[in-house]
Amino acid sequence: MPSAIYHSAHFAQRVALPALTSVALLAALVGMLLIWAGREADEVSVARQTALANVVVGKLRETIAHDQESVTVWDDAVLRVQEEDATEWIEYNLGRWMHTYFGHDGAYVLDPADHLIYQYSVDESASYLDTERRAAPLVADLRQRLREGDDTGLSDRILSQGASDITVVSGRPALVSVKPIVSDTGDIEQVTGAEYLHIAVRFLDGDFLDTLAGDYLFEAVRFGWDEPVSDSDVALPLRANAGEPVGYLIWKPYRPGAEVIAKVGPVATVVAAAVFSLILGLLFVLNLRSRKLAERDARMRHLAHHDPLTDLPNRALFDERLETALKERSPGSAVAVLYLDLDHFKQVNDTLGHPIGDAVIVEFTARLGTLIGPGDTLARLGGDEFTIVMPALATEEAVTYLSDRIIDAVRHPFNIEGQQVFVGVTIGIALAPRDGQTRTDLCRKADIALYHAKGAGRGRYAIFGPEMDAMLQARREMERDLRLALQSNDQLEVHYQPLVSAASQKMIGVEALLRWRHPISGWLPPDQFIPIAEESGLIEAVGDFVLREVCKAARRWPNLSIAMNVSAIELRNPAFAAKVAARVLEAGVDPGRLELELTESALTDVHGIADQNIRALRTLGVRIALDDFGTGFSSLSRLQTLELDRIKIDRSFIDGVGRTNGDEAIVHAIVEMARARGLKTTAEGVETLEQSSKLMVIGCDELQGFLYSRAVPASGIDALLAEGPARDAKASGVELQNPTGLSLAPGGAV
Ligand code: C2E
Ligand code: MG
Ligand code: MG
Repeated sequence: MPSAIYHSAHFAQRVALPALTSVALLAALVGMLLIWAGREADEVSVARQTALANVVVGKLRETIAHDQESVTVWDDAVLRVQEEDATEWIEYNLGRWMHTYFGHDGAYVLDPADHLIYQYSVDESASYLDTERRAAPLVADLRQRLREGDDTGLSDRILSQGASDITVVSGRPALVSVKPIVSDTGDIEQVTGAEYLHIAVRFLDGDFLDTLAGDYLFEAVRFGWDEPVSDSDVALPLRANAGEPVGYLIWKPYRPGAEVIAKVGPVATVVAAAVFSLILGLLFVLNLRSRKLAERDARMRHLAHHDPLTDLPNRALFDERLETALKERSPGSAVAVLYLDLDHFKQVNDTLGHPIGDAVIVEFTARLGTLIGPGDTLARLGGDEFTIVMPALATEEAVTYLSDRIIDAVRHPFNIEGQQVFVGVTIGIALAPRDGQTRTDLCRKADIALYHAKGAGRGRYAIFGPEMDAMLQARREMERDLRLALQSNDQLEVHYQPLVSAASQKMIGVEALLRWRHPISGWLPPDQFIPIAEESGLIEAVGDFVLREVCKAARRWPNLSIAMNVSAIELRNPAFAAKVAARVLEAGVDPGRLELELTESALTDVHGIADQNIRALRTLGVRIALDDFGTGFSSLSRLQTLELDRIKIDRSFIDGVGRTNGDEAIVHAIVEMARARGLKTTAEGVETLEQSSKLMVIGCDELQGFLYSRAVPASGIDALLAEGPARDAKASGVELQNPTGLSLAPGGAV
């Protein structure tokens, strides 16, 4: 899914990269800090060890001198060295003893003329010659100072002057220290500068190194003549008094920092890696979550703008697209708005069920999808209402061309789950800028055009024209007037049209037909206002008015049955049967004298409420007639399932009786079929004697039409009733010859 990839890339760039970089930087910083701290600690440690080595060497100098003083500042020594064969004494006191007791590596004694009178060395190969050469400058320096009586540095601890230096003895680094042999009591006279001298030698590469390693923990300590090249070693130059280094004390320094780093480093690396992976994991989860969130967001946004059944743009998106199209319209071009409405869709839904209805909608959408242009927007506003926006139109022809193709495409039956479903489509069109510049204005006008197209017979398109607006205005006014008419009690009036028995040619009943005496327009036929009453919800009040009048009429003419028309909308009210029952019983009328005329559209109610009402009314004794039979949607076979008492054959068939053989045959078939089902038949619109006699032969039970009478006010029926018996008395069975005898009494039929 490209949006997922885009999201992940976006996420990586905006969140993951900065987060990981921060973590990496932090880790690097901590690492660097650790290394720096380690280095610092190492440097301090190296400096301390170097200082310590320096001190140790310095201390060694002092110690040797101090050791020497323990035997050179001694009256016995002064006297004994002057003796002829003092070698043995010297050996045990100034020579070998010094090695045994203090660990000195060499001891020499010089007489006042600097002649060697005793020598001892642990290193057998070491000759005094070498030592003498090294010691000579020290000896000379010491005698000079002794002669001068220099007493600098003398104290309780340092009892005599001395000279010492670091030098090379027998090829080995060594500390050489010279001390005069002097009286400790001061009782022995000595010539200053002419004392016997004691020389001590201590090698710096032998057990001295062991001491450094053992006591001071210098690791891998050794002596080297040259400075070491390796960075891992530290060297302390052992300098002669003259300043030049004799050689170097070399050791592996103790580096606590490096040690800590070595120990902590791997752990820190592992911890850093763990933190890094943890964050990576968290980022992964976060990415997943935020991607899901983004996807859900996108889905929600899509849902908010699309119809779930067809996935077409919904009203919100349609509005948006239309606004955009209007805003971006270039001068000279037009924007078209088409309002589409599926014909008979409600019946499909009601009779075949919603799943089929939904399938029709989906199929309809698919068909339209192939017809509209790439820039056009097809939207579903709800139910069977669709719209199309056509932006940037050069000519009006493009709209009519598309409309024609749509109507043509929808005319072909829809094959759904093996059923052939016939629907049609009606289209209303408005164009910008001609019909309006704003969205609401265009939509309103497209809707008006649609309304107009429907009124003109469906399955067609209409382009908005100003006259349509006027018509709509008129309808609105009529609705308002009808409301007022229902409140006033002198505008609505029920007229009655006789129903004549075909056999006896006598009036046996009447059909109640509503009339409206409009204060300005005069008498209005029901065709003009019943649809408005149905649309505006006023039909219930209208029906109730007629029912009450019919009840009055039933009491007025106890020998006539009374038929009244009921709208499909009334019949879908679950309380309808109860209301009729209440009114009839209230008026004390036998329900068996009441007949309700329904049209087929009233019977196509999928919820079954109409059926329930019909069943309840029939149980009560009320009869049900199917009005205008033959014009509607139902087939003959559907009649089998309906609970009916009568069929009223539509005027359009009766019109052809005596003129068109086909119509006569149809009427014949209907009557046969009705009779087979035990249904009565009434022929509507009987206007001629010929029709009357033919229908009688065909076997219609009742006849209704201008031949007998138009619908007349109640007083007209009174007159007819009064007239009937009188005529009967004159000549029986002459109604057919003189049908006008039943015709309109003065008082205003339509
Ligand atoms: P409908 O129920 O089929 O009524 C018969 C219509 O045919 C009446 O028109 C009547 O005047 C007319 N008619 C009767 N005989 C002839 C004839 O020989 N020739 C011709 N050309 N016409 C004839 P109307 O009174 O204009 O009523 C029209 C329709 O309005 C009725 O058709 C009925 O469906 C409806 N309607 C009338 N009153 C009511 C009412 O109170 N409630 C409801 N819901 N609908 C009503
Ligand atoms: Mg009728
Ligand atoms: Mg009729």
